[in-house]
Amino acid sequence: MKSERYDVVVVGAGPAGSVTAKTAAEHGLDVLLIERNQEIGVPVKCAEGVSKDIEKFVVPDKKWVSAVVKGANIYSPDGTKVAMAGNKMEDVGYVLERRIFDKFLACEAARAGADVRVKTEAYGIIKRKGMQKAFMFALGVRIQVYLLMSWLVRMV
Ligand SMILES: Cc1cc2nc3c(=O)[nH]c(=O)nc-3n(C[C@H](O)[C@H](O)[C@H](O)COP(=O)(O)OP(=O)(O)OC[C@H]3O[C@@H](n4cnc5c(N)ncnc54)[C@H](O)[C@@H]3O)c2cc1C
Repeated sequence: MKSERYDVVVVGAGPAGSVTAKTAAEHGLDVLLIERNQEIGVPVKCAEGVSKDIEKFVVPDKKWVSAVVKGANIYSPDGTKVAMAGNKMEDVGYVLERRIFDKFLACEAARAGADVRVKTEAYGIIKRKGMQKAFMFALGVRIQVYLLMSWLVRMV
């Protein structure tokens, strides 16, 4: 079985995984970000609406913002209504294009230095004498990754 070494393995290239991988790489760690699907952001399992709080993590870009939301009423199953912005019609959020947004974030992680691999699925982890090993299928090939800092971040 092929062996590799990384400080951190992040399992799942959704928004949480990509931002985590980017942050770890920016701090000088050797990072592997893996995604089991062959295309990041696909299939989309999301209605794609987010609040402006997303700006705490990323600068909105026309490439992956398909609409700006100006006010919204949110109803819970029991009928409770939460009004965002009320009658002021301010920008309160965005409708994303997740298939592009997720790829954008994975690219940001790669730009920060993370290795990004698709069609790679984690299926196990072994912890022995303080050393962790993650097992995965990468393009159908079984590999093991030694985690030098004993970090495996599972984002799923
Ligand atoms: C129907 C629906 C509508 C939604 N609408 C909204 C909405 O309007 N607004 C909103 O903010 N949120 C919405 N959500 C929630 C939103 O989609 C999630 O909160 C968000 O995608 C979570 O991001 P994440 O990075 O944590 O995980 P995910 O986006 O789920 O990413 C996890 C990734 O990990 C991969 N993965 C899983 N297991 C492995 C493995 N063993 N090895 C390798 N890769 C693996 C998966 O393929 C996936 O790509 C909705 C969810 C659903 C289901």
